[in-house]
Amino acid sequence: ETIKVKTPSKSYPVFIGRNATNSLPEFIREHFSQVGKILIITDEKVAGLHLHTVKELLSGIGIPILDYVVPEGEHAKTFDVFFACQSYALSQNLNRKSMIIALGGGAVGDLAGFVAATFMRGIPFIQVPTTLLSHDSAVGGKVAINHPQGKNMIGVFHQPEAVFFDLSFLETLPPRELRSGFAEVVKEALIQDPGFYSWLFANVTRLDTLTEEQLLHMIKRGIEIKAAIVEEDEKETGVRAYLNLGHTLGHAIEGLAGYGKFSHGEAVMIGTIFALHLSRKKLQLDIDLEGFIDWARGLGYETEIHEGLNKTDILSFMKRDKKVISDIVTFVLLEKVGSPKMANISDSEIMDNLSVIYRKN
Ligand code: NAD
Ligand code: ZN
Repeated sequence: ETIKVKTPSKSYPVFIGRNATNSLPEFIREHFSQVGKILIITDEKVAGLHLHTVKELLSGIGIPILDYVVPEGEHAKTFDVFFACQSYALSQNLNRKSMIIALGGGAVGDLAGFVAATFMRGIPFIQVPTTLLSHDSAVGGKVAINHPQGKNMIGVFHQPEAVFFDLSFLETLPPRELRSGFAEVVKEALIQDPGFYSWLFANVTRLDTLTEEQLLHMIKRGIEIKAAIVEEDEKETGVRAYLNLGHTLGHAIEGLAGYGKFSHGEAVMIGTIFALHLSRKKLQLDIDLEGFIDWARGLGYETEIHEGLNKTDILSFMKRDKKVISDIVTFVLLEKVGSPKMANISDSEIMDNLSVIYRKN
C-alpha cells in the first residue's frame, strides 16, 4: 500500500506493509543515487532488534552506511543527544550530500528528523517507524527535541523524503507500546471518520489478538487521515490542531505523573475521555461515553487518575502548554464524531469537570 503525502513544501510516499522496507534500497537507488553517505539513527532497543535487518538490506546499494545509537524513549530527545549526533556526523565527514534514516519510534523520528533538519542547514531524511504510534509522528514533518521546561520546545518543520512503515517490526513491540499507539488511531477516527470509528469500536476489543489485516487497515486509515490534515495545514495554523484531541490534558498527565508512568497514548486516552465528556456537556455530542470508557478499559487503558495528581497542578500545566494562547485553555472538542471544534474552557469549568477522570472511592 502506498499513500502520497502532498504538502506545500514537499510530496512524498508512505509505503505500508509487511516487509515494506524491502523496497528501501530501490527507492534510494532511484532517487538518491548521488548520496555520499547514509547515517542510520536508532535507539538502543531497536538497534538490538532490527538494525541488522536494515543494514543488511542496504548493504548492496554501494553507499557507505553508518549508524549512531541513542538512548531509548524521551532520553533520545535531549540537547546533549542532539549535539552528540551532530558531532558524530561531523567526525564521520557527513556533508550536504549525506542522508539520514530514522529507525525507531516517535522519539527517534523526532530526534533524527531534527538532526537532519539542522545538519549543515538541512539534509534529506527517511522515516522508518517501528512503533504503532509512529504511524502518526513519522508523517507530517514535525521534528523536535525537548527542553527541561517543555516537551518538543525546540524544533522545526522538516518533511521526510519517504516513510517506510514495515509491519514486521511491530512483532517485537510490547503490549503497552501497542496500546500507546492505538490511542492515536482512535483519536484520528474520532476527529475525522465516523465509519472508521465504528469499525474500531466494533472490531477491536483486544489489542493482543489483532490480525495483520486489522493492523494494516488501521495504520493505513490513520495515515490517510493524518496526511489529509497535514496537506491542508502543514504548519499548524488551523485544522492540524485538531490532531491534539485528548492531548491538552494528556500532556499534563504524562508530564505530571512522571514520564514513564503513563505512556503518551495512555495519557492521551484519559485526555480523550475528558474531551468527550466536555463535548457532551458543551456541544451536545451524542456519544455513549460510558460505553467508550468500558471499551478503553477492556483494551487495557487506565481511564482514571488518582488524587496524587492534583487538579490545580493539572490546570497550571495545561496553561504552560505551548498551544495555549492567552490565559484560557483551548480544547479540541467534538460536535459529532468526525466534526471537531476548538473551544475555550474557563478555569472553573475545567476544575469542575475534571472530577470525571478521578478515581471514585
Ligand atoms: P519511542 O520512540 O520512545 O518508542 C517507545 C518505546 O518502544 C521505546 O522504548 C523504543 O525503544 C521501543 N521500541 C520502538 N520500536 C520497537 C519495536 N519494534 N520493538 C520493540 N520495542 C520498540 O516513542 P513512540 O511511542 O513511538 O513515540 C512517542 C514520541 O513521539 C514522543 O516523543 C512524542 O512527542 C512524539 N510524537 C511526535 C509527533 C510528531 O508529529 N512529530 C506526533 C506524535 C508523537
Ligand atoms: Zn500524540
